[in-house]
Amino acid sequence: MSDDRTMLFSDFPLAAPILRAVEELGYETPSPIQAKSLPALLEGRDVLGMAQTGTGKTAAFALPLLSRIEIDRRGGPQMLVLAPTRELAIQVAEAMQAYARHLPDFHVLPIYGGQSMEPQLRGLKRGVHVVVGTPGRIQDHLKRGTLKLDQIRSVVLDEADEMLRMGFIDDVDEILGRTPANRQVALFSATMPDQIRRIAQRHLRNPVEIAIQSSTSTVKAINQRYWAVSGMHKLDALTRILEVEDFDAAIIFVRTKVATTELAEKLEARGYAASALNGDMNQAMREKAIDRLKRGTLDIVIATDVAARGIDVPRITHVINYDIPLDTESYVHRIGRTGRAGRSGEAILFVAPRERRMLTAIERATGQPITPMRLPSQSDIADKRTAAFKDQISEAMESQDLAFFETLIEEYQAEHDLGLAEIAAALAFLAQKDRPLLPADAPETPQLGFEDRRDGRDGGRDHGRDANREPRRPRGGEDIARVKYRIEIGHAHGVQPKNIVGALANEAGIESRYIGAIRIFDDHSTVDLPEGMPADVFQQLKRLHVLGVPLDISEAGPGGHDDDRGNRRPPAGNRRFAGRSGQDHGHHAGSGKPRRKPRG
Ligand code: ADP
Ligand code: MG
Repeated sequence: MSDDRTMLFSDFPLAAPILRAVEELGYETPSPIQAKSLPALLEGRDVLGMAQTGTGKTAAFALPLLSRIEIDRRGGPQMLVLAPTRELAIQVAEAMQAYARHLPDFHVLPIYGGQSMEPQLRGLKRGVHVVVGTPGRIQDHLKRGTLKLDQIRSVVLDEADEMLRMGFIDDVDEILGRTPANRQVALFSATMPDQIRRIAQRHLRNPVEIAIQSSTSTVKAINQRYWAVSGMHKLDALTRILEVEDFDAAIIFVRTKVATTELAEKLEARGYAASALNGDMNQAMREKAIDRLKRGTLDIVIATDVAARGIDVPRITHVINYDIPLDTESYVHRIGRTGRAGRSGEAILFVAPRERRMLTAIERATGQPITPMRLPSQSDIADKRTAAFKDQISEAMESQDLAFFETLIEEYQAEHDLGLAEIAAALAFLAQKDRPLLPADAPETPQLGFEDRRDGRDGGRDHGRDANREPRRPRGGEDIARVKYRIEIGHAHGVQPKNIVGALANEAGIESRYIGAIRIFDDHSTVDLPEGMPADVFQQLKRLHVLGVPLDISEAGPGGHDDDRGNRRPPAGNRRFAGRSGQDHGHHAGSGKPRRKPRG
């Protein structure tokens, strides 16, 4: 068999509109589970797939099965996906919608408990191609006769072992028994306990078995760290890290081609010599970028896995996994780009809460621990900039003939009767005003990582694994000014506070401890958020959907008091929000007075 990693999505006979959507999403190559599932499912075979979270299972079943949907055929749903939780059902439905964006009139409907029956019944009446649901609620609809499975042509069991764990296995068995005998089934599970095997034996016909095991690989002397993504946008975390880490050249890995160019532009705007490296660039362009990296006219490349394969540039001291890879082998390939020619290397991995398991899998596959890292604080950055500035002074004194300036200063001193330190201070200000030594007033993000939970220890305790960690502050117990916002989702949509917190935290990167009171009304809700939300964060929130409903967020007055509407206040500073626009350099240039000193 050929190397999966060199395959392209276009090598598979996917429907043209599906392929186009994948192209637009910027996926460069299929992940291992995708490369194996696609041909089997496109041929109409059943699949029994063993793969953990974060390996790209949704596309693995959605792309081929959507390719086989008959869009013009109305009647009952043609495809049924069973997922263990409402969050997963919604996530899968949203992903399917994205993959099917060029299928005209395509409808996917998530169905789960806790939501009122109304919208689900309306959706089912209207006619849908795909239903994604939790087994319990699907059973409800089957019993009421509001969902018919006689048109079903494919069934997917997503995270089957989770469904087992949650006590859904009999429901799953029953639901499968009610689908037409000639339908296709794909069963995905991270583990294969006997009960899942039995389900597979009973309902799958001669399945193609796919196991994506993480083979163990040895990793050279590379110092591996991870940052548990929370409370701050990854981009801001990245810029802090780049500022404080001593790096010569760095390679930053992202998942999609689109992300390579986006991130490259953002880093360039922040003054870094950065460039994208992806499979859309022709060979000559890629070679040119790598050559510049070697020669040092470029310091950072932002790459996809494929484009970076085989890069051998001894200058690369850092590999930053901005997006976690979809398989453990990719991780090993990625970090192998540093520590070349006997030098040591640094690898940093960003891990979002739902990617936790991939972190564990990587550690297991490499047999090496990845240690949690503390994000550099504003004072770390100030220290770093101050040290660099002092170096600049020393260097100027060594390398320049300063006789002319000495005379000038002596004259100035005589004219104004001032001390040398005062004059030097004014000059230092002039020299650094475009890049303040004291960074702009941005939030000090506490390290509210998940490492504690990963240990299975008491999450509220500081357990000194990292002596430099900032002290943990009580959750929500902080006195911060909040503003009340209104969002257009309420009881009528079946929303619960956790859905809102989840969206704000995961989609907008606002740490849950900063999210104040949430009140849910019939057709809308209110949520208190720290005052001073930057416009770009607000714009991002404006685009948020929860349970498929656009939030259309608007300011509703000061926070803290329920129902206190009106009394609008313009946003003030930008505390509690990462300065996402990142144009903070030179912020203080006018007055030269930082609003807040990083240190007391
Ligand atoms: P799983 O269901 O295995 O946990 P998902 O299907 O949720 O994984 O995919 C994880 C993430 O990876 C999603 O953000 C998805 O958009 C992205 N992704 C999936 N396949 C690819 C690919 N081939 N290239 C780049 N990103 C991908
Ligand atoms: Mg999944």
